[in-house]
Amino acid sequence: MPETFYYNAKTNRYHYASGDRKNEFIGAACVRELMRDYYDSRKADAREINRKLFDREISVGDWEVRQAELIKKVFIQAYKIGNPQLGSNRSTDPSDYGRIGNKLKDQYGYLRNFSGEILEGKLSESQINARVDQYLDAANWAYEEGRRLTHARGGWPWEKRVMSPMAEHCSSCPGYAALGWQKIKSLPAIGTQCECRSKDKCHFEYSKSITRPKDSFLKRNGWIA
Ligand SMILES: [Zn+2]
Repeated sequence: MPETFYYNAKTNRYHYASGDRKNEFIGAACVRELMRDYYDSRKADAREINRKLFDREISVGDWEVRQAELIKKVFIQAYKIGNPQLGSNRSTDPSDYGRIGNKLKDQYGYLRNFSGEILEGKLSESQINARVDQYLDAANWAYEEGRRLTHARGGWPWEKRVMSPMAEHCSSCPGYAALGWQKIKSLPAIGTQCECRSKDKCHFEYSKSITRPKDSFLKRNGWIA
């Protein structure tokens, strides 16, 4: 998050640090949009690495190392924006790092298969570009999981999955959204256990209610916002 924002650990929200809206909080939808912009801008970096590969400036092995470094940087950055206290003394939790580390290991494994397919000449340049974009979109898992950890630790007992009205969904996502409010950390993470994978445009919302919050049937099914 740029320095024009600051984080309030009590509310788990970002606020404007300067300008006309100083101290007002930034809506969660706005932060999600900023995150999408961030992934898109890093896709440009990934495509520049691809260009070097296509122009034979680097080997497939170098390409894999550079893409892995970029993916690591973006995943960790997204995780920290979701969970800004990560690494601060009072909330450092080795399991937080374990979770992101395991996810990155999976990504490196996919990347290894990917570079194998490039070496075999199976993929066109446009296929390689499109697939690299998916890795950057997949970093949204890290943002949402970081947010989930910080809310779980901060005493938010409930979560629900909300679908973006703008996006297409697989057959699994509406089912998760229809479950409504559930115990925090009990629903599938964004982009997992569904066919959307990195294209998953769902997100989590959280509640501090003592008892299970109630949404109307219409709201729960996404018919009204
Ligand atoms: Zn889905």
